[in-house]
Amino acid sequence: MKNLPKVKGELFENYELATMTRFKTGGMAEVYFSPYDIDDLSHFLKKAPKDMPIHLIGFGSNILIRDGILNGITIRLQNSNFSFIEKMENNILKCGAFTSNIAIAKFAAENSIQGMEFLFGIPGTIGGAIQTNAGCFGREIKDVFVSLQAVNIKTGEIKNFDLKECGFSYRKSEIGNEWVFVSVEIKGEPGKKESILQTMQNIKEKKDSAQPTYTKTSGSTFKNPSPEKPAWKLIKEAGCQGLKLGGAIVSPVHANFIVNEDNATSADIEDLAEKVRLKVYEKFGIMLEYEIKIIGTRRIENI
Ligand SMILES: Cc1cc2nc3c(=O)[nH]c(=O)nc-3n(C[C@H](O)[C@H](O)[C@H](O)COP(=O)(O)OP(=O)(O)OC[C@H]3O[C@@H](n4cnc5c(N)ncnc54)[C@H](O)[C@@H]3O)c2cc1C
Repeated sequence: MKNLPKVKGELFENYELATMTRFKTGGMAEVYFSPYDIDDLSHFLKKAPKDMPIHLIGFGSNILIRDGILNGITIRLQNSNFSFIEKMENNILKCGAFTSNIAIAKFAAENSIQGMEFLFGIPGTIGGAIQTNAGCFGREIKDVFVSLQAVNIKTGEIKNFDLKECGFSYRKSEIGNEWVFVSVEIKGEPGKKESILQTMQNIKEKKDSAQPTYTKTSGSTFKNPSPEKPAWKLIKEAGCQGLKLGGAIVSPVHANFIVNEDNATSADIEDLAEKVRLKVYEKFGIMLEYEIKIIGTRRIENI
């Protein structure tokens, strides 16, 4: 810790991360930092040793952290200074990057702002949603995006990004891993509260009936190769639904979800995902691309 700058927020060594992920697996952060506010974050990033990799985590609902030590510094914006919603003019909401998507959808409904209902179906932070251009039921982040404020991980510089600079595409943004998102402005349009709430309820019902929403899972494991070839269909037709490895299982409810069913390790989950990729490749000649982000070092004994 002696090479790390003094901070106002929380700084720990050997900090357990499993509880911060939906899979409830993964190892320890070599260093864990939860900044107090933007200035604290910027100051820390300016002064932090440049040879230590930086990892960002939100609610851990789209991430697999490998077992063992996660080298470098893991940053989580777990402070009320990054978790807020402000109503601006013209149906714009300014949100801290650690704000839950579900809370934003509810706030928008309370204020009769339409167009953000899809966020009700995405259990993570708006920061995580920006990174992956998250979406469901035909809407995605890029449809509501106005601007983003972020801090550079190498220099601590604070910068605003517009829509073009974010380069959103299917479950992807072009900003890369060089920036910590700290706040975002998103825009809806005037609507009727009752119909907004009804849309949100419909989204919840559809999701709950088709996905293992309340299990230890990180959502869709793989991106859809194309709308005609959704990953779940390829996985199912390759005979992988219900496949188990260690404590992990390919969900019997939705084949693109892997679930930590019985004290799985991250290695169990990743090995199962790799097995699925291989089987789909053997059957269809398509190599599935990961939607979940995998971070950390693969341990030799698990290969
Ligand atoms: C049951 C279930 C259903 C889901 N359904 C959907 C769905 O319909 N559509 C969809 O798109 N996703 C879905 N997801 C995935 C997930 O909820 C979204 O991707 C979510 O927005 C991720 O947010 P998070 O805070 O959990 O990010 P994490 O999983 O913690 O991180 C995801 C990525 O974002 C980066 N990141 C996080 N915070 C920041 C930040 N402040 N600055 C820079 N980078 C950051 C991380 O480094 C990582 O690369 C689902 C997940 C689950 C568990």
